[in-house]
Amino acid sequence: MILNKNIEMDDIECCNCGVIFLVSARLRKNWLETKNTFYCPNGHPQSYTKSTSDKLREQLNEKENSLRFKDNIITNLEKRLEEAKEKPKTKKKKK
Ligand SMILES: [Zn+2]
Repeated sequence: MILNKNIEMDDIECCNCGVIFLVSARLRKNWLETKNTFYCPNGHPQSYTKSTSDKLREQLNEKENSLRFKDNIITNLEKRLEEAKEKPKTKKKKK
């Protein structure tokens, strides 16, 4: 058989038996994203845990939520500051 195609291949090493096999880069990318189980040629189940992009996406979401929370606090404080400025000053009585 002559394979004459221009396909980008990635190598995968089975974490169980150590066999190294090739799959198309597109398929491997799909496995990385879906976390679906696949099998080495010897039948050992494999799956990818969270990818780097997943982890970074989660971190970004956390940061955005934290930023939004702080924005709300700042907005509230600014509002209170404006209200405090508008109120006429009441002097405290001296004891
Ligand atoms: Zn294996």
